Amino acid sequence: HALVAAKAGGLGRWRAYDPSMASALTDRIALGGATKDGSLTLDYQPIAALSTGHIAGFEALLRWRHPTRGRLSPDEFIGIAEESGLIVPIGDWVLATAARSARRWTAAAGADAPYVSVNVSPRQFQPAGFVDTVHGVLATTGLPPHRLVLEVTESSLLRDDDKAWDDLQSLRVLGVRIAIDDFGTGYSALSYLRHAPLDILKLDRLFISQLATSARQRDLVAGIVRLARSLDLDVVAEGIETPQQRDISAEIGCGYGQGYLIGRPVLDPGTHAG
Ligand code: C2E
Ligand code: MG
Ligand code: MG
Ligand code: MG
Repeated sequence: HALVAAKAGGLGRWRAYDPSMASALTDRIALGGATKDGSLTLDYQPIAALSTGHIAGFEALLRWRHPTRGRLSPDEFIGIAEESGLIVPIGDWVLATAARSARRWTAAAGADAPYVSVNVSPRQFQPAGFVDTVHGVLATTGLPPHRLVLEVTESSLLRDDDKAWDDLQSLRVLGVRIAIDDFGTGYSALSYLRHAPLDILKLDRLFISQLATSARQRDLVAGIVRLARSLDLDVVAEGIETPQQRDISAEIGCGYGQGYLIGRPVLDPGTHAG
């Protein structure tokens, strides 16, 4: 009865009585403190050239050690962070932390140093100043722009306004590269790719997991890869778990691969690199 009454009283009051929303709210507060107390960390997963095995870059993946619930994967809290707007300060922290790490790899490995790839939520394009934020991070860390990749989703690129599109184009002028993440899970409208401000296409792991299941599926994925390459995009096959998936990905023209077979996400690899 309390819930029904609260619902009748409006969305705000409904939320106040909904236990799952209440716990989400608690999470929100904990998340706000997390950037300060060290409970947010980044793992890094290698992205390798499939022909040579050479590691071209690392994707930064956010981890949160929740005070009571332990280690949470991003799928469990990114939604809350986006909804509350906390993804903006968290995203700033991810960018700065990843760039600082990558700057150290650059110092250790010289010209051959791997790039760092950072996930950017659609919400991060909403406030003005995303371009300035990225520019500021590059300036303070000294990371060369071409060692930074920003991973965006189709939903960022297909927003009604051109905000993300314009920001990404400005960043490309600086030398930062842009990747479309999880390609194939969204609208799959291939036509916008031709004009989108992109350098890299990351094929969703659903495609990769289906590569070996049928010739039809393989031909479909091969067609997408051909299109991407005709647009001068580098292609990264995501979620490679078996040698067969790696080999087929390479055969159909994916230049790069990422997945448990190539390497699991680990704490800053630079700390092992000597
Ligand atoms: P994503 O950007 O597509 O990242 C790849 C995800 O696939 C990661 O999950 C990674 O651990 C997982 N993965 C890698 N190789 C394999 C494989 O061979 N098999 C399988 N089954 N999975 C594999 P994770 O770390 O749980 O991250 C999930 C998603 O959370 C990411 O998907 C990304 O969309 C989001 N995310 C992670 N970090 C951040 C961040 O800093 N900011 C934002 N906005 N989103 C983030
Ligand atoms: Mg990603
Ligand atoms: Mg992905
Ligand atoms: Mg994903």
